[in-house]
Amino acid sequence: MRQTVLVTGSSGYIAKHIVVKLLNAGYTVRGTLRDVTRAVEVSNAVRPHLNEPSLLAQLDFVVLDLEQSEGWDAALKGVDILMHTASPFPIAQPKDEDDLIRPALEGTLRALRAAKAAGVRRVVVTSSSAAVMGGDLPAGKEAYDETCWTDVNYPGVTPYTKSKTLAEEAAWAYVKSEAPDMQLTTINPVLVIGPPLDRHFGTSVSVVERVLRAKDPMLPHVGFTCVDVRDIAEMHLRALTQEGTIGQRFIGSERFMWFVDIANELKSAFPDRRIVTRQAPDFVIRLLGLFDKAIGTIIPILGRRDEVNADKARRILGMSFRQAPQSLKETAQFLIDNKLV
Ligand code: NAP
Repeated sequence: MRQTVLVTGSSGYIAKHIVVKLLNAGYTVRGTLRDVTRAVEVSNAVRPHLNEPSLLAQLDFVVLDLEQSEGWDAALKGVDILMHTASPFPIAQPKDEDDLIRPALEGTLRALRAAKAAGVRRVVVTSSSAAVMGGDLPAGKEAYDETCWTDVNYPGVTPYTKSKTLAEEAAWAYVKSEAPDMQLTTINPVLVIGPPLDRHFGTSVSVVERVLRAKDPMLPHVGFTCVDVRDIAEMHLRALTQEGTIGQRFIGSERFMWFVDIANELKSAFPDRRIVTRQAPDFVIRLLGLFDKAIGTIIPILGRRDEVNADKARRILGMSFRQAPQSLKETAQFLIDNKLV
């Protein structure tokens, strides 16, 4: 019999890819939305990627808000598996960190409590490398791995990083103390790129968009560890199908790239576009950061290269990650084809 998966935040960039994978793998999917009118948008995004058009009949929607208690019990009724992906991921950090922490943390606990009440035992939570890498690399390690946890009091930790760390910590603590039968897995992606399924994509794709818009005269000496959205969706699916995933965290990561490397890759793929590839000296960014708050937030990561180890996902989930330069090019092609840059 088909199992039913509740996917929270089904309007999200990553979640739409997860919905496609689940439907193609034979699951029935109930997606949560804040706004019911977006059901058509999600269905339209998913439809062209289904193995069979009839699989769309296995997708329906319920309305939920991470900050509201209503609707959760009904949403989880008849569900076998909870995939909790919803969490705010804004481009700019809010003035009040609680604007991110409250929905992330309380929303995760609401989801888990409702799952427990409905007898749902299998849960996959989309956490983040933000819950792994916000702190000094432990002595003796060359790269962050699943044993590392962000210290929310570490200097420069952003409200988003705090929100993801506190939410994941709360999930593990809840299972340990309140629901020992619950089978939890977390997926911890680095910066997710790769072609969105429609024009409503999340914050991470804006890194590629920014390079293609070429608005900045120079690029700061910062970099990102990247992974493809299709691989992150696949990790969510494999968490359900592979042995040895229960009670585990899995980092999803392909490689680190400096901003300038990203720009150079895109310049070579799209030579006719104006793409800035010059790196700004660090002192210029530090100076600008005194006047511009957005620039100020990158000062702590200037020149910082953090390595992340995703071998556990390769070993247990059997992942082989798409090459980040190729993901970048496909993301750019999508933005260009859809006249979004
Ligand atoms: P996204 O496109 O912004 O998706 C976020 C989803 O969460 C949307 O469906 C959004 O609903 C929903 N949401 C936000 N606040 C909510 C609330 N108060 N109540 C109900 N739903 C709410 O971002 P994404 O990149 O796909 O991220 C999905 C998950 O992956 C998040 O947990 C994020 O932290 C995690 N993650 C992302 C990355 C990345 O680089 N993209 C990396 C690591 C981890 P609306 O559509 O209504 O806003």
